[in-house]
Amino acid sequence: MVDQELRDKYEVVIGLEVHAQLKTKSKIFAPDKNEFGQEPNTLTSPITLGMPGVLPVLNKECVNMGILTGLALNCEIPARCKFDRKQYFYPDLPKGYQISQYDEPICVNGYLDIKGKRIGITRAHLEEDAGKLVHAGADGLAGSSYSLVDLNRAGTPLLEIVSEPDMRSSEEARNYMEELRNIVRYIGVCDGNLEEGSMRCDANISIMPKGSKEFGTRAEIKNVNSFSALQRAIEYEIDRQIDIVEEGGQVVQETRLWDDNSRETRSMRGKEDAHDYRYFPEPDLMPLEISREWVEKIRSEMPELPSQKRARYQSLGLSEYDASVIVEQMGLALFFDKVLELGANPKIAVNFIMGEIAAYLKEDHIEITDTKLTPENLAELISLIEKNTISNNIGKQIIIDMLKDGTKASVIVEQKGLSQITDEGAIKEIVQKVVDANPAQVEAYKNGKTNLLGFFVGQVMKETKGRANPKAVNEILKSIIEGL
Ligand code: ADP
Ligand code: MG
Repeated sequence: MVDQELRDKYEVVIGLEVHAQLKTKSKIFAPDKNEFGQEPNTLTSPITLGMPGVLPVLNKECVNMGILTGLALNCEIPARCKFDRKQYFYPDLPKGYQISQYDEPICVNGYLDIKGKRIGITRAHLEEDAGKLVHAGADGLAGSSYSLVDLNRAGTPLLEIVSEPDMRSSEEARNYMEELRNIVRYIGVCDGNLEEGSMRCDANISIMPKGSKEFGTRAEIKNVNSFSALQRAIEYEIDRQIDIVEEGGQVVQETRLWDDNSRETRSMRGKEDAHDYRYFPEPDLMPLEISREWVEKIRSEMPELPSQKRARYQSLGLSEYDASVIVEQMGLALFFDKVLELGANPKIAVNFIMGEIAAYLKEDHIEITDTKLTPENLAELISLIEKNTISNNIGKQIIIDMLKDGTKASVIVEQKGLSQITDEGAIKEIVQKVVDANPAQVEAYKNGKTNLLGFFVGQVMKETKGRANPKAVNEILKSIIEGL
């Protein structure tokens, strides 16, 4: 670890390249299904296998999703884009080249505002994914001296989103990545699962002396499978580069792999420059003209974005923290929205969602949709609280049953006799009983220990199994004790 003083001498520069797997039904240039987890090499038409004489046909849905994402990232969508061949040999790339977009991508010049800071987005382009190699030594192949290839993933659509080198800390990089993940999930183009690789991130990192205007040489880190790994990998890489420079060495431009177990990066290969790929326009695909009507139609269908959702929640009285925690968990946010649509009080709803419901989900590692609770039932529970039929505390008790077996709040209240006692006469009677049973505390209260009020309230609640209306209990208690 490099100490803070040494760190402070350097400025860190980070740019991210994020690959988002698009959730289309079929592949980008072939009719094979775009599905995860199928029997190896079953989604492999001659086009996917790169057989001689086959021709790619562009999947329009990929273009729709590319435009939608670009608009969500404040990009311009040029009137024309085109595809190019990027040549390299990998055993999981049967054609020997990848169809990508080089100098005319589908999206350019965007940005995201994250926690008050603007991160530029250079471009986003469509391309096809490669297949997957399973190397000897991996599960079930221990000791064997070969690798297997599964081409099911070859040709699945990717949108590569390239940021400007605008981030200055691992935390900023993580915030950017998290917001990007939120966006692609909310607009429905990618499921944003870093662990499964449906969203992948390459982090480009360099350092320069503080105050310098000239960026240092970058290293590109691959293989980060979670947000925390991204942050760890960047922190490690900053220290590694500082050590090199402090010892008089030079950082080399290369691709490094992050190993989250040993918590270090190691060199994978020297980094090619663009000219090494021998890009040239893909002769099998026409340049793509995107009309302004097409763009505007997609813009008009844009779902609510995470930033808009957070702002709306805050305008309903939620704290900035609560709003962002809910938006971070899309299942909860969609559930919350339905509860709101049913007219429920937002603050009470949030207390349940952030409190008992979140704890319940966390304990079992499940999603809200895995429970039996419906938005209708939560809205009904909230209305019972608002009408003073039950207290908030009773609500907290019964929500667990509602999550488990889907029972309606009104049914539980009816069956268990949980409705709130609001009748003054009834409450007075119980308060009197509690006061009579605790003469010493009454004396102490009258001698100035007024915080004993909580004790009396507790006793009344105990007597009524939490059903007495707390406001009425407080008022009646005070008037009885003080009147003695
Ligand atoms: P390549 O595909 O060769 O990695 P790209 O242009 O697609 O090149 O991506 C380059 C990425 O590296 C961008 O996200 C960019 O912001 C970032 N980057 C460029 N120069 C630096 C630098 N000196 N330090 C850190 N990041 C950089
Ligand atoms: Mg790169």
